[in-house]
Amino acid sequence: MSQTLTGIAASAGIAIGKAFSLEMPDLTVEKQSNVNTDQEIQAFDDALETSKSELEKIKEKTKRDLGDEHAEIFSAHLLVLSDPEFVDTIRNKVKDENINASFALKEVADQFVTMFESMDNDYMKERAADIRDVSTRVLAHVLGKPIPTLTEIDEEVVIIADDLTPSDTAQLNKQFVKGFVTNIGGRTSHSAIMARSMEIPAVVGTKTVTDDIIKDVIVIVDGLEGAVLIDPSEDELAAYREKQNQYEEQKKEWAKLVHEPTKTKDGEHVELVANIGTPNDLDGMKNNGAEGVGLYRTEFLYMGRDDFPTEDEQYEAYKKVIEEMDGKPVVIRTLDIGGDKELPYLDLPEEMNPFLGFRAIRLCLEKDDMFRTQLRALLRASSYGNLKIMFPMIATLDEFRQAKAILEEEKEKLVAQEVKVSDDIEVGIMVEIPSTAVMAKQFAKEVDFFSIGTNDLIQYTMAADRMNEQVSYLYQPYNPAILNLVKMVIDASHAEGKWTGMCGEMAGDEIAIPLLLGLGLDEFSMSATSVLPARSQISKLTKEETKAAAEKALTMNTAEEVKQYVEEMFIK
Ligand code: PEP
Ligand code: MG
Repeated sequence: MSQTLTGIAASAGIAIGKAFSLEMPDLTVEKQSNVNTDQEIQAFDDALETSKSELEKIKEKTKRDLGDEHAEIFSAHLLVLSDPEFVDTIRNKVKDENINASFALKEVADQFVTMFESMDNDYMKERAADIRDVSTRVLAHVLGKPIPTLTEIDEEVVIIADDLTPSDTAQLNKQFVKGFVTNIGGRTSHSAIMARSMEIPAVVGTKTVTDDIIKDVIVIVDGLEGAVLIDPSEDELAAYREKQNQYEEQKKEWAKLVHEPTKTKDGEHVELVANIGTPNDLDGMKNNGAEGVGLYRTEFLYMGRDDFPTEDEQYEAYKKVIEEMDGKPVVIRTLDIGGDKELPYLDLPEEMNPFLGFRAIRLCLEKDDMFRTQLRALLRASSYGNLKIMFPMIATLDEFRQAKAILEEEKEKLVAQEVKVSDDIEVGIMVEIPSTAVMAKQFAKEVDFFSIGTNDLIQYTMAADRMNEQVSYLYQPYNPAILNLVKMVIDASHAEGKWTGMCGEMAGDEIAIPLLLGLGLDEFSMSATSVLPARSQISKLTKEETKAAAEKALTMNTAEEVKQYVEEMFIK
């Protein structure tokens, strides 16, 4: 019997496929004595071989998709499995103590991990992580409960998981992964944002999807409505195939606007640009007709690897994007790590409230070398087009001044070395923290532009963690509190002759768009897949009617009231 779950519609589209559960199997082991040691050693050796061939495959695939550097980690894993000191110790333990291989493996791996972790040397600490990773893989094979691995998927599936980290999401192969469903997460969690840029339908925050899945069962993901159907009937399958076709037809209609300018019904141009995570997203944004890059989240360059990207690697990535955009604006945000985006090699202490903690610009101002390396890479790339640099999570004017001063210092050094640097790079900030929105008048005198990051601005204004589905009802972009903050920022920038964009998810939201237009937002930056629907919507709106609607919405009492009003006026 089919079962329907509801969650948060995280990425539009309909996906139908076999469930592929990413749940970790239970790998607890118990000691057994008086075993057949030959058999145990054979089981261990078999598991070792299977693990090696899996790792070879993953390594090759990573090399193909992400390059040599990312594949290095798997070479390190393979080395562990060929190290006689490690594998012979396990075999000897089985023989000498007459115990089961899984227990011997676990004990030896734990000893090695503890030993390496206690060494005062970062390289050795990383080896501890490698040993932990590979021994879990081998143990799973000894126990006959293999660990699901994303890179190994080679048939059409829907991923089912408690959560997907941004680096899990980056590994998804669009050819086979048709959609995904998670227990936790919200519309603005980074795996949801990445699903949208990869155009993979997704529903997050279902709370219980992992409880209800049996292997290979068919799952329908309705990323338009936020519904998940498990083991659907023939009728349901037919209905959703029809819905899938309709959505594809709608997309074809939108696609006709790909080379059109974005204009309101009364002829005013609106800047419609896209958010990207890596240079690989450029194709998607061009295919969707974006007029530039409004937010390049550079942190993805730092993720899924075991050391910092070098200045040259960063320079190449930034240059590629700037060059390919051929004079169109490219807003690159400096490293915004922290919150739900972790960097294991940064080795930061666990925090009680990572979203309120040591992240983004706070971390960059402290880790001066890391920050300067990124700024130099950006400055060197600036001469290839129209770069604008943006600092994330600015809470005080002092933070902005410090960041800008470091940028100026690096620029002067490069110029002194006769490195070509553009002399009209705009420098702006993200407005994500309420204090900054409230102080927008003062900021507007010093910055070149604002870009409102509503994903964070809403979580901080409403005090509601964007990752927590229990409080996702407080993600209220239409709440008059948010609209008033947005207005303050836009008005403050205009009073100083500056511009304001928005790169949070709100910028691509069909209820929010008429209001933002009415408030005078200059630039809308969104997931690439939202660009064409937004262009189509904007072409049917006039400045005058949206201005009147926005003024009215600012005085309303609740988000729901605003939503109903906009729906009546502009949607239905
Ligand atoms: C935001 O906070 O709105 C934003 C665009 O930044 P991120 O989603 O990367 O935190
Ligand atoms: Mg943010």
